Amino acid sequence: MSRVASSPMASSPEGPRHSGSRRSSGTGLESGRILGRYGTLPGPRLICLGGLHGNEPAGVLALRRIFSFLHDTRPPFKGQVVGIAGNIAALRAGRRFLERDLNRGWSPRGMQRAETFPGGPAEDGEQAELIAVLRKELEGDRSSIKVIDLHTTSAEGPPFLTLADTIRNRAFARRIGLPLVLGIEEQIDGALLEVITAAGPVTLGIEAGQHDDPVSVDHHERAVWMALIAGGHVAEEDVPDANSMRTALRNAWRDLPKVFAVRYRKPVAGEDGFSMRPGYLNFQRISAGEVVGHDRNGPVTAPEGGRIFLPLYQDQGDDGFFIVQDVHPAWLRLSAALRSLRVSSLARWLPGIHPARRRPDVLIVDRRVARWLTVDVFHLLGYRKSRVSRGWYVFRRRSHDRKVGS
Ligand SMILES: [Zn+2]
Repeated sequence: MSRVASSPMASSPEGPRHSGSRRSSGTGLESGRILGRYGTLPGPRLICLGGLHGNEPAGVLALRRIFSFLHDTRPPFKGQVVGIAGNIAALRAGRRFLERDLNRGWSPRGMQRAETFPGGPAEDGEQAELIAVLRKELEGDRSSIKVIDLHTTSAEGPPFLTLADTIRNRAFARRIGLPLVLGIEEQIDGALLEVITAAGPVTLGIEAGQHDDPVSVDHHERAVWMALIAGGHVAEEDVPDANSMRTALRNAWRDLPKVFAVRYRKPVAGEDGFSMRPGYLNFQRISAGEVVGHDRNGPVTAPEGGRIFLPLYQDQGDDGFFIVQDVHPAWLRLSAALRSLRVSSLARWLPGIHPARRRPDVLIVDRRVARWLTVDVFHLLGYRKSRVSRGWYVFRRRSHDRKVGS
């Protein structure tokens, strides 16, 4: 890729080109929680979160480059883009978190605790500040807001997107041009993007590659530019290198499939002494029974075959590894068709399925009766698994699962 000084993809060995002191406040290059702001409202809004995990500075660096470029070149721009820093104290320390993972605890109870009980973990203060900032940024018509959350992984591998599987999120993701991983939110409770998705905006998680790889900053920058173009903020011709950015994202992916679904999560706790076998890349194929790591009880094996996903190669974190399976694109088309036909509203009439009292979006499934129904069928109809107990599944219909223009 050609790199010229004025290109939004330009990077310099000194890091981001902007200096916070160069501009007065209000112009968008403030330091601190707001990483930058460009454009005016009303209009479409893009909110970009970076560094929710402090050992993942790539998103923050990419956003600084983008705001610097926007302020230097002032292209025609519709609506507004804002960049928000996540775990500021942990970013300074270069750690995933200081006392607790800031990308957990976004349940209503967790948010209330962070806002009302001083003296908790350091991350409570960060969360309370983020809640206040997000409330303000999410004011108004939320259906015109898109939120992207920029992350990186401890293992090496190509960039990809994670999303709650709604038709609107899919439509946006398709225009970024990176492959999708569905269903991670079923495995992880209380992630920030989940609460934002439920509030109405279109949401996407972007995983750009390995934490410390400078290419991860480039991938984040490319993906955010694609989001700005997809959201109608900037015209493609006003973004130098738009085509080469798109090609670079496609080349990073090579010939892997375009859609994956998360099938398994290995939870780990500090006392488990879990260590991943070194050398796995994201999306590398594994077979059932393969020894993928060790803990204090001995070898840890893969319960099913598929591809390894987010193997843990850092000392903090409670996800040992995930297993994903390839999803055929026809499945996405079928599920979009079924959802637009509102087939899901018929599910409650099937044997073994009961709507929850006063919760029309929740189905309780008796697994002994509805044995022939798999989780996949409910995914197809737009439900997510929210709880499993011995004989029962609880599925919740994804909110805001409808088609919109972009
Ligand atoms: Zn992260």
